[in-house]
Amino acid sequence: MSRPILEVKDLKKHFPIHGGFFGGVTGHVYAVDGVSFDIARGETLSLVGESGCGKSTVGKAILRLFPITAGQVVLDGTRIDDMPAGRLRPLRRRIQVVFQDPFSSLNPRMRVRDILAEPIRNFGLAKGKDEMEERVAALMDKVRLPRDAVGRWPHEFSGGQRQRIGIARALAAEPDIIICDEAVSALDVSVKAQIVNLLQDLQKELGLAMLFISHDLAIVEHMTHRVAVMYLGKIVEVAPKRELFAAPKHPYTEALLSAVPVPEPGAQRQRIILKGDVPSPINPPKGCRFHTRCPYAFDRCRVEEPPLRPLEAGHLAACHLHDRPAAENPLAGARGGALLPA
Ligand code: SF4
Repeated sequence: MSRPILEVKDLKKHFPIHGGFFGGVTGHVYAVDGVSFDIARGETLSLVGESGCGKSTVGKAILRLFPITAGQVVLDGTRIDDMPAGRLRPLRRRIQVVFQDPFSSLNPRMRVRDILAEPIRNFGLAKGKDEMEERVAALMDKVRLPRDAVGRWPHEFSGGQRQRIGIARALAAEPDIIICDEAVSALDVSVKAQIVNLLQDLQKELGLAMLFISHDLAIVEHMTHRVAVMYLGKIVEVAPKRELFAAPKHPYTEALLSAVPVPEPGAQRQRIILKGDVPSPINPPKGCRFHTRCPYAFDRCRVEEPPLRPLEAGHLAACHLHDRPAAENPLAGARGGALLPA
């Protein structure tokens, strides 16, 4: 098997809380607390979970938008989390990002031509003016916008068109991997589908790897190869999409899936409503972090943290239920997200 293009190893990001009379550190927000995964070339891994679970912090840590607390980020075999800025610069080209808000992520004072030319120029990818124009035009083709729109300003485009410009800007750097941070969340349903289709087509055409950060499992189902589910700073389940949707092995995943609409007419899922709110990442629960909301929690869950471990090939979950006999494990066997008959 070829080396993954991106490896994240035991990543931690704890934000200090300053307070008290002298403004010292009084605690930490444990936003990401030991997250590991890898992504192969041409693969999409979706990182899903409720808002505040730490998934966007993982994306920002990979992009080195802030220093990490512990762990490693390895790009194509080279560790980049501790790399000095000068050496990191050429590698930055290889990881690009598409942000959630297409309205604030484009500079309103730059025409589309200049927005797309900026990364090409910064990374020295065009030899002269003609090549620059060719590249900009090719990017417009790739994201299916008319070439003659390069002279327009961002405010002259719709939300979906702006997101296409955001994708073109990411592609301009010729990356190996794109991080899509809730990239379609702010868009209308029909536009969402168009952008997802575009991302899928581009991935196939260009062999890109993608980290797709989203709270929306219905979207993820259409475009991912594998899914990693996060809860309160930790990954609680990782599996190929088909396996995860057919037979979730963590109660949190099961609850998230129960809220995904079923495409079959008349069919519905048995909705699992989780009790309570997500606990604070300042003071996460002892034992299994999910025990305060888990419908299956038992004594062991309150004292012992379950490790993320393989249960089947490529399917990992962090839950003590899988140490119990099958008859006492509600997640043993295929459940299909608890589909009810029509
Ligand atoms: Fe629920 Fe216990 Fe499994 Fe945690 S370890 S998810 S509390 S059953």
